[in-house]
Amino acid sequence: MTEKRVYTFGNGKAEGKADMRNLLGGKGANLAEMNLIGVPVPPGFTITTDVCNEYFEKGKEKVVDLLTAEVKKSVEHVEKLMNCKFGDPTNPLLVSVRSGARASMPGMMDTILNLGLNDTVVEGLAKKTGNERFAYDSYRRFVQMYGDVVLGLKPVNKEDIDPFEAIIQKVKAERGVKLDNEMTVDDLKKLVTLFKQAIKEQTGKDFPTDPMEQLWGAICAVFTSWMNERAILYRKMEGIPQEWGTAVTVQAMVFGNMGDTSATGVCFSRDAGNGENIFNGEYLVNAQGEDVVAGIRTPQQITLEGSKRWAKQQGVSEEKRAAKYPSMEETMPEIFAQLNEIQDKLEKHYHDMQDMEFTVQDGKLWFLQTRNGKRTGTAMVKIAMDLLAEGEIDEKTALKRCEPGKLDELLHPVFDKEALAEARVLTRGLPASPGAACGQIVFFADDAAKWREDGRNVVMVRIETSPEDLAGMSAAEGILTARGGMTSHAAVVARGMGKCCVSGAGAIMIDYKKKTVEIDGVVLHEGDYLSINGSTGEVYYGEVKTKPAEVTGDFAKLMALCEKYSKLVVRTNADTPRDAEIARSFGAVGIGLCRTEHMFFENEKIKAMREMILADTVEGRETALDKLLPYQKQDFYGILKCMDGTPVNIRLLDPPLHEFVPHDLEGQEIMAKEMGVSVKFIKQRVNSLSEHNPMLGLRGCRLGNTFPEITAMQTKAILGAAVQLKKEGFNPMPEIMIPLVGIVNELDAQEAIIRKTAAKLFKKEGVEVDFKVGTMIEIPRAALTADLIANKAEYFSFGTNDLTQMTFGYSRDDIASFLPSYLEKKILDVDPFQVLDQDGVGQLIKIAVEKGRNTRKNLKCGICGEHGGEPHSVKFCHRVGLNYVSCSPFRVPIARLAAAQAAVEE
Ligand code: ADP
Ligand code: MG
Ligand code: MG
Repeated sequence: MTEKRVYTFGNGKAEGKADMRNLLGGKGANLAEMNLIGVPVPPGFTITTDVCNEYFEKGKEKVVDLLTAEVKKSVEHVEKLMNCKFGDPTNPLLVSVRSGARASMPGMMDTILNLGLNDTVVEGLAKKTGNERFAYDSYRRFVQMYGDVVLGLKPVNKEDIDPFEAIIQKVKAERGVKLDNEMTVDDLKKLVTLFKQAIKEQTGKDFPTDPMEQLWGAICAVFTSWMNERAILYRKMEGIPQEWGTAVTVQAMVFGNMGDTSATGVCFSRDAGNGENIFNGEYLVNAQGEDVVAGIRTPQQITLEGSKRWAKQQGVSEEKRAAKYPSMEETMPEIFAQLNEIQDKLEKHYHDMQDMEFTVQDGKLWFLQTRNGKRTGTAMVKIAMDLLAEGEIDEKTALKRCEPGKLDELLHPVFDKEALAEARVLTRGLPASPGAACGQIVFFADDAAKWREDGRNVVMVRIETSPEDLAGMSAAEGILTARGGMTSHAAVVARGMGKCCVSGAGAIMIDYKKKTVEIDGVVLHEGDYLSINGSTGEVYYGEVKTKPAEVTGDFAKLMALCEKYSKLVVRTNADTPRDAEIARSFGAVGIGLCRTEHMFFENEKIKAMREMILADTVEGRETALDKLLPYQKQDFYGILKCMDGTPVNIRLLDPPLHEFVPHDLEGQEIMAKEMGVSVKFIKQRVNSLSEHNPMLGLRGCRLGNTFPEITAMQTKAILGAAVQLKKEGFNPMPEIMIPLVGIVNELDAQEAIIRKTAAKLFKKEGVEVDFKVGTMIEIPRAALTADLIANKAEYFSFGTNDLTQMTFGYSRDDIASFLPSYLEKKILDVDPFQVLDQDGVGQLIKIAVEKGRNTRKNLKCGICGEHGGEPHSVKFCHRVGLNYVSCSPFRVPIARLAAAQAAVEE
């Protein structure tokens, strides 16, 4: 009864396949699958993700024990297919050791190439291939990677360059050469010696000579890298559970560094930035994989078309391009044709855009990886709509392919055309990830994060980025790099994050120590403003103005598809006509929550409001309310008009009154004068309004029930505006919502006032308007007695902010003192104010919907808390049968997509 821990592949056969990614990781599963469909892949084997968990439970020694027999057998399997032997001094097999989790985490974990070399084997490799230079180039790369990843030789300070890179630069300088390939075989040998010395000096460790020992070291290092800081951070950002673990793939090496008939590259079956159906990618002649991604040498384009576009962006003439930067289509036409054919085959096989890695060894093409490519929000939408149009996927799949959260990018502002025309272009780089970004320059990831926390927008400027920079990149508005192509780390990660990025802007000169960047003769310092356009690659001086995005083209097509499938409709939370208009342009079909208190803060309004609150008689309050009435009516007029023909749910005054009164002496003096009373009187009134727990005090319908004249005034304002609009030929659909009801009597009393006021008003005006009276369900007692409440309420709106607050007993304003620790200790998985707690709060919603509809069969139910725009919560709302969700304007498209997905996932 032995558990299978290792799965082999090679020569058109495989023990795994594509749908085993949970066990073999994405990389391992797809390597197996590519074998099965006839794509050339070097043979190898994959150790399962389960072993990763075992590794952290049982420890290194135990796991090596458990694996030994299977790994040995699998190495023999590869030896047989490759016709050479691991560690053999005359005919050696070299392998790569690669990581691969269920979800792709590009560059987050470690890879080691050329494993199996030592001082004797390298001589054998040189003889076998007749290429000493290649053998030692591979050896120095191996010592470098192994020294970094397994033995841990890293830079000491953030300003320092990589210690291996420092040695390379020293050797090159001594020899007076510039490029890596200008180094002689002796130089490469020297590098190996110096690398090993540096490793020994700094880490105290000897470089292992036994290939099997090297292999175990590398396998364990890959498992260990699952828990490195950047991998943990990446998982957190992407919501990848730790338990998934990484698989380890050990694979026969194929060599892209064997000379001019060898190469390595990365390619995409469609454009990952804008989604266009154009095969594209980059390659480097005589190089190994990591060179392309690391941005050390700027790679060349694979297709001729791409190469020409690149030259144009970089301002390189056609002659120079053809001579110095030719495309693979030109330099290796046959290989290019094969590559093109296979990329198409893979895309059709997976029915999605593929991101592929390949190597050419001495004129033979090998595939090393394929995966569904990471893409920007724009590309996500375009690719889904295109694949649908091409008949590759159906409508439901197209909907599922789009991540709701990623639509956010399409709603980001874009550069204002006029401002752009006036802006000064400093230089151009590659349009690595689209979007508009503007912010203050920072050079280091930790600074980017810090500045962001202080509320500043930053653009991170770097020579190149590495996985350590992840947190900084995520904090920045955009990223600008001097080196690296469209498949560099910066570009790939930025696209995954939907962050604007310009890469490979060769004309910028960065000085990390001085914290300056010189572009086109202009020296910019940390903190200076810079704008970058990730769609064109342009870099602008200073701040360039932006404007809001629009829903058009493929985005509009996707939204139409959402409408076709979703049952839940999406409204918006808006307090102003401006917000309402934006939301409507994003497809909101009504207002789910219009709060009235925000309307009171402007100059004259706040004075009248304060006068109302500070008055101590009914008459005093009524006088003040009379002053407020026209303002309120005007506000409601604007919103109802803007949302003509759609329901507008207006909540009556809700917050504790002390939020409105002046707490400073100056404000109190003004109010005293205004009302013709003493400052002392004002002070006393302010003091008398202070409460120990204002959120549980005099607020919500308790206000309207204590001071019915407020409810009457607000009703007059709402319905007065509606009457006026109706007279003007509009179709206003007001809904009046009573907040914070816990007992049906509270609602009863308020409703009576509203109906009475309405009747009087309609009679006076000679016009009637249809309106509804409903309530917010935000107190657990209301949910539990929803059958009684539904006798009075014509609709329910779940106020999940308060409902969460009261169900958990967490004060939303004080949660910061314990939430981080709760999350860290896993007492809570997520912040319940962001993601709806389905078990507890959700249970109350479910009960209330059921009970409410028992009383009133067609009771309309919606949600208006922050959760209304959070995809998981939206899907929950669909499942419990709500009629609508309501969210802030910029989340409307996200909620619409989530609602459609909920419907097609059923
Ligand atoms: P990552 O997950 O960071 O992309 P990979 O495991 O894909 O790491 O390795 C990075 C690169 O190393 C690959 O793109 C490829 O170019 C090179 N590589 C990996 N394994 C081999 C191999 N067996 N032969 C040649 N190159 C390899
Ligand atoms: Mg890697
Ligand atoms: Mg890879």
